[in-house]
Amino acid sequence: MGLLSLGTPMPWDEAKKYADHVRAHGIIQFLNLWEATKNSQKDCLLWGDEIEYMVVSLDDKNEKARLSLRVWEILQDLAKEEEEAQKDPAKKLLVDSTWHPEYGRYMLEGTPGEPYMGLPRDLLAVERNMKLRRELAIRFMKPNEVPVTLTSYPRLGCAGDFLEPHHDPHGPAARSLFVPDDIINAHARFPTLTANIRRRRGSKVAINMPIFHDKNTPRPFIDPTIPTYNDYPEDKNAIEEGGALPDHIYMDAMAFGMGCCCLQITFQACNVEEARKIYDQMAPLGPIMLALTAAAPIYRGYLSDVDCRWNVIAQSVDDRTEEERGLKPLKDSKYRIAKSRYDSIDSYISNDPSNKPEYNDIPLVYDKDIYKKLSDNGIDDLLARHISHLFIRDPLVIFHELLNVDDNESTDHFENLQSTNWQTMRFKPPPSKHSPIGWRVEFRSMEIQLTDFENAAFAIFIVLVTRAVLSFNTNFYIPISKVDENMQVAHHRNAVLDKKFHFRKQIFPQSRPGTPSAGTPSASPRLANATLPARTAAPGTTGAAHLSAGLDRSDEYELMTINEIINGDPAKGFPGLLGLVNNYLNTLNIDIETRCEISKYLELIKKRANGTLMTAASWMRQFVQNHPDYKQDSVVSEKINYDLVKMVEKINKGEVQVPELLGSFSV
Ligand code: ADP
Ligand code: MG
Ligand code: MG
Ligand code: MG
Ligand code: MG
Ligand code: MG
Repeated sequence: MGLLSLGTPMPWDEAKKYADHVRAHGIIQFLNLWEATKNSQKDCLLWGDEIEYMVVSLDDKNEKARLSLRVWEILQDLAKEEEEAQKDPAKKLLVDSTWHPEYGRYMLEGTPGEPYMGLPRDLLAVERNMKLRRELAIRFMKPNEVPVTLTSYPRLGCAGDFLEPHHDPHGPAARSLFVPDDIINAHARFPTLTANIRRRRGSKVAINMPIFHDKNTPRPFIDPTIPTYNDYPEDKNAIEEGGALPDHIYMDAMAFGMGCCCLQITFQACNVEEARKIYDQMAPLGPIMLALTAAAPIYRGYLSDVDCRWNVIAQSVDDRTEEERGLKPLKDSKYRIAKSRYDSIDSYISNDPSNKPEYNDIPLVYDKDIYKKLSDNGIDDLLARHISHLFIRDPLVIFHELLNVDDNESTDHFENLQSTNWQTMRFKPPPSKHSPIGWRVEFRSMEIQLTDFENAAFAIFIVLVTRAVLSFNTNFYIPISKVDENMQVAHHRNAVLDKKFHFRKQIFPQSRPGTPSAGTPSASPRLANATLPARTAAPGTTGAAHLSAGLDRSDEYELMTINEIINGDPAKGFPGLLGLVNNYLNTLNIDIETRCEISKYLELIKKRANGTLMTAASWMRQFVQNHPDYKQDSVVSEKINYDLVKMVEKINKGEVQVPELLGSFSV
């Protein structure tokens, strides 16, 4: 469970001296793991979700809802429960979950006890298990504490009262004007991560999200609630140095981002090539699912003009120096880096022939020496680029005790970098060469939904999409720069209905004269490494050289609404992702009852996409705007926040029906 201390973490000045050491050994560890597992074959689908919760402490007398900092105790109780369940098969069924700490001291993460299998019937276990987890967690909470699955906590960082127990803001790790360090998980790793990001960057993180201008919101909006302090040099960042932008909600700590909750899905592939294929196929869906699951419209007590969390987290852990961000000429830093280490993926990695080199059209910064080391050891170009791109980052937290490990057995240094590249997709090697677990892919963009029903629906939908992808050999490739554009578009208020996204028009493999037709086994070499055009750019400086060769693929994709992408467009013969999923289900032999149950979940996806039902983000906006306390000034007061949490709790208990959010589905 990782609750125990791992040792003594190094402050940044010390850690940076070991960055090359960690990278060098991380690569050796990866290569050792690769040698041992590159031919690993698994014959069945295993997959699982991760649900993150915030524990809220309700003060009914004063009508306040505060984040509870007691999660450490709750996690210890859950760990005990898990341990006992290991010994007692009867109990195992009742517990059937695994619990993890998260960044926030008010956060919990629960996963199923065992991964799910691929059978349709197993899909019906998903919501049941999510409910079991919620109930189990509640057992270890105080009567006034509730686990809520809100993506961003509306009043996090507001002046006054948002934590139980109360702590004043402005601690040494985050140096935030708004949150105390007590909000951070107490495990030494987390405050160190926070402080080292700030130190490496050379300033506090600065997050600015556009405010939603309502009738009475001042124009320009200059936040009157930003406190002033005079303790740390960073205290000048917000106002004197202009860090807090007008017309924006300004936030200055990792907790505003990493303190958000999300829904992640991990699937095991049969082998490494299949994992790479799933990774690529799911990548263009990242922004689509972000917009469709949008659930984060409120930050630091204000309605924002965005519906989802992603950019908040990206900015909240952006450890790039000014040189890396391009604000100053390169002197001490090695590279200009376009994105935060929390961001969308930068390259496709599959060797499938449908992955044309020109789809990787954003310049990829990567570590030349590491690329060479990987190449020299038999790693193909695309994978070597992927790994050496992850390795342009510095390890942020290094423990003295774990500096020298056996590279044949440990993957610690590799994981140090791998697990702090927080991207929309994660390509996960087996955890160790002795592990029974295979090559996996994690889908990471979705926002957490208010109820288990919705979370189950999105989890099931995504898993079925991966099955359809493999079954129909789909092709979702578009230039990765377009995926990035979609990522930004996804944030807009009500993007799900109002915006259009680049998406591939022809998603089935096409038969060309002289080549085998779609669906039949391909006669061309599957491992197309040798057939890929040689990449001409020098390692480490890759430009999109092929673009100058005039390979324009803009006729392959067009702008579509989410409704078209999900529900299809019969006029164009475009099936939509739900069409694919239903076709896939039709190929299986499923009993009527199971199919009906699965359809309930798919209905939710369909109706969210076509606008019949609201996203959580729209629903929360409406809740705020209809609240008697709301003054049309974008302010989400303590009372509104309290009523919102109470409402979410009632929805989860089935005490109120919210047809605008869930349709006829009741909890
Ligand atoms: P991380 O936080 O690194 O993403 P977690 O351990 O929190 O990983 O969650 C991993 C998820 O993967 C869980 O839902 C778990 O059920 C699932 N899982 C575990 N083993 C496998 C496997 N062999 N294949 C696919 N998924 C798995
Ligand atoms: Mg996890
Ligand atoms: Mg997590
Ligand atoms: Mg998180
Ligand atoms: Mg995860
Ligand atoms: Mg994790």
